[in-house]
Parts: sequence; structure tokens; C-alpha cells
Amino acid sequence: MTLRTSVSALPAYEPFFLAGQWVDAGERATRAVIDPATGETITTVADATAADVDAAVAAATAAYADRRWSGMVPLERARILNRVADLIEEHLEELAILETRDNGKPIERSRADTGMAARTFRHFAGAPSRLTGTVIPIDGGAHHVYTSYEPVGPVAIILPWNFPIMTAAFKLAPALAAGCPVIAKPAEDTPLTLLRLAGLMAEAGIPEGVVSVLTGDGATGAALTSHPGIAKITFTGSTEVGRLVAHAAAEDFTRVTLELGGKSPNIVFEDADLDAAVLTAMRASFGHSGQMCTAGSRLLVQRSILAEFTERMAAAVARVPMGDGLDGGITVGPLVSEEQRQRVLGYIEKGVAEGATLVAGGQSQGPGFYVGPTLFTDVTNEMTIAREEIFGPVGGIIPFDDEADAVRIGNDTSYGLAAGVWTRDLARAHRMSAALRAGTVWINTYNIFDPALPFGGIAESGLGRELGDEGLHAFLEPKSVVMAISPL
Ligand code: NAD
Repeated sequence: MTLRTSVSALPAYEPFFLAGQWVDAGERATRAVIDPATGETITTVADATAADVDAAVAAATAAYADRRWSGMVPLERARILNRVADLIEEHLEELAILETRDNGKPIERSRADTGMAARTFRHFAGAPSRLTGTVIPIDGGAHHVYTSYEPVGPVAIILPWNFPIMTAAFKLAPALAAGCPVIAKPAEDTPLTLLRLAGLMAEAGIPEGVVSVLTGDGATGAALTSHPGIAKITFTGSTEVGRLVAHAAAEDFTRVTLELGGKSPNIVFEDADLDAAVLTAMRASFGHSGQMCTAGSRLLVQRSILAEFTERMAAAVARVPMGDGLDGGITVGPLVSEEQRQRVLGYIEKGVAEGATLVAGGQSQGPGFYVGPTLFTDVTNEMTIAREEIFGPVGGIIPFDDEADAVRIGNDTSYGLAAGVWTRDLARAHRMSAALRAGTVWINTYNIFDPALPFGGIAESGLGRELGDEGLHAFLEPKSVVMAISPL
């Protein structure tokens, strides 16, 4: 029996999780949740209203004020966050299947994402008892001066559809570790794993009122991000919506972290290990159907190895397994929605129209929202497919002459999320990582993440960092305390 035949339709899942209580849809509008592999409706969820947002913010504000979470003994908060990690691991297969049905991604990817979500809670579970400030000697002892860190207040978490459970954990775990109450909104296409996670967080012992999960679309997101009761917004999504969120935050000087799009260069020099570079470039461009903010969609290849690299890539692309993510062994599953499929096909047409050469893919098939892995050559960095984030299994090879040329083309983008460099020359690797304007540079590897490693972008890729100490401190306000201890 395959995973596909072992799962049945989910019952209508209309309640959402408001301040620790499941609330029925009642008169609220509901929306279908579609399985991208079949196009069929698997369940329905409710759209939270502006009144629901008000109620969630009021509950978070009350929880912040009475310190039912931040005032708990730090090691008890740590125990509860570790329990969340345990419960995610205990339910890993269930959550992974739910994620694949909701998003379409290969089941192995869903298992890895869910495992990463557990590790992220585990990592930040160590934080509550280590939120230490410092003593600062500003004078010869006339004052006792110290800093402390306080939770910033109620946090709005707005999520994208491409990594639903993982991006949720990237935000929930550090926010909760910092002592903040949270209100999380999943993307309208992929609400299911976060709803399940809400139940697990309650089971782990997070007090009522500290966590709300409100399903809905951009209107719910906008009501949340513009709410004066929100102290901090952490958003992952498109640059376009990120800009709207930044404007909403400006109104009340709400703290904001933005994880936005990317158009990352993956740069292959002539001295690279080509076997590894081709395999990794293939995964970086087409893994998860290219629906990755860090997709290495601009493949910069040194002219001296262009012909060989292109031939090897084309052969590798032809072997990429495409199909239902629940089948296992799939690299390219369906895209998340029909809208996304049409968008991606539009970019492929544009690539051809602007003069790029299609060497593989370009086709679409159904039922389900499939687009085959698509590789272009003869791409220039001015073409639309090299400038805009496609968010589909589409990669383009751009030739370069030397190191300076690679840096120039690599940095010629409005984004700055990530970059890859393939070379055996250590000095060049260091020169390149210093010269590339990106939040992360991977050398002779790609897409390595860890809860301890800060992640984020510059320019139109966003503001601030998630994960690591930087990610934790994004949910804290430092306070400086100055006390006179000698007579005036
Ligand atoms: P999106 O911007 O369309 O939506 C993101 C979220 O914002 C959704 O929950 C949506 O309902 C909500 N939203 C929509 N309008 C809003 C508004 N006016 N105010 C507040 N919230 C609103 O993005 P998406 O299509 O779901 O995700 C894909 C994008 O996310 C890509 O651009 C991708 O690069 C980016 N992404 C970035 C990272 C990163 O860490 N940098 C990670 C994953 C995805």
C-alpha cells in the first residue's frame, strides 16, 4: 500500500485555535484546502475575521501583562519547549503526510522539514535560562549599571506556503523562548500542519492565551500586522507583501523582521568538482519544485566549462523524478496551486520570447499542478527569468569570464538572500564570500540550514535575521538600568 492509498479524506477542519481554544467556523467564510497532487479538496478551514484578530490580540496582551508565560521559571519554559519538540518527533510521520497533502512537496522533504521544526524547538528550548544581560562599568563605581532582556510583547507571525511547518517553527520557537505570546497565521493554501502544531503546543503545556493560530488570507494578515496591540511582526513571504507589512509596521513603530524573496546566484568556477556541482545545482534549482526562497535559479558558469557543464546539467535534468510527493523518491512534485502553475508557465514563455534557449523541460501535465524541471541556456542577467523570482522548477545558465565578472553578475540583482560558490581554490572562496552581497554564502555546498545559524537577506530579500542568537534577540527588548550607588 502506498502512502497515497493509506490516507483518507480529512474531515472538515473548520475550527481554528484562538487563545488556546478551538473555535468553530460558525457563520465565518470557509475555504477549501486543495491537494496539489490531485486537485481535490481535502478539507475546509475558516477565515478568521477582524473580530477574531481583536480577540487573539486581546488574549495575547493579557498573557503578556500577567506574565503567565514569561514569568514562569525559565527551566520550566525550557521543559515545555522541549516537550513540543518531543511531540513533533512522536508525530513526525503524521505531520509529514499532512504537509505533503497540503503542499505537494515530496514526502522525504516533509519529513526533513518536520524534523527541522523539532530541532528548532529543541535548540531554542535551551534559551530561557540563558537570556542574560551584562554589567557595564561606565564609571569608577558611582553607578551600578546593567542590561536585561525583556520579551518584546505580542508577536504576529505571518507564514508562506512553501515551508509551512518549518517556517512556523523558525518563528514560534524563538518567540516563545523569549517569553512572547504569539498569534500565527499560516498561508491560505497550507494551514494544516500549523493547526496540528497548535494542538501539540497546548498538549505540551503552553498556557492558554499564549498561542493563537488564525487561518485566513491576506485580509486576516493585514488586520494582524496593522493591529496596534502587536509589538513585533515576523513575516516570511514575497517581497511585494513584505513591503506592505513594512508600511503597516511603520505606523506604530512595530518591530519587524522580514524574510522575503531571492534570486540567488550559484557560481561554478572551472576548477570546481563538477560531479558535486552538477548534482547540487540540480537540487538547488529543482528540489521542492524550485519553490524555495534560496533556489539557485541563476546558475553562473565559467565560460571555459560552459559546454561540458550544460551537457551534464541537461542530462541530470532529464533524469529528475517528477510525480506525486506521497509516492516517495520524487524530486519535483506538483506546484502548490493552479495559480502558481500558470505563473511559472508564463515565465517559461517569457524566457523563450526574450531569447533564452530551452534545453530541457518547459512542459506541464495534470491532473495536479505539475511543471517539468526546466533548464535554459543563453540566459543574460537582464532577462526577466534572471531578474524575477519564479518560484518554480526553472533554472537558467548564465556564462561568466572571470572572478570579477562573476561578482559583478552575482551582485547585479535587487535581492540578496543567498549565493553558492564552487571552487577548489581556498583563497578565491574567501574572496568570493566577502564580495557577494547576500545573507548566506555556501561554498562547495548549498541549502545548509541549522537552528543555530542566522538566516536572512539584505536589500529586497528582507530585514533582520531568523534563527541563531540574532533570531532570538529579535523577540527581545534590551533595557539599560543605571543605579546610583555612591552619594552625589
Ligand atoms: P505571500 O507574500 O503571497 O504571502 C505570505 C503570507 O502573507 C501569507 O500568509 C498571506 O496570506 C499573507 N499576506 C498576504 N497579504 C498580506 C497583507 N497585506 N498583510 C499581511 N499579510 C499578508 O508569499 P507566499 O506566496 O505565500 O510565499 C512565497 C514567497 O515567500 C516567496 O517570495 C519566497 O521567496 C518567500 N519566502 C522567503 C523565505 C525566506 O526565509 N527569505 C522563506 C520562504 C519563502
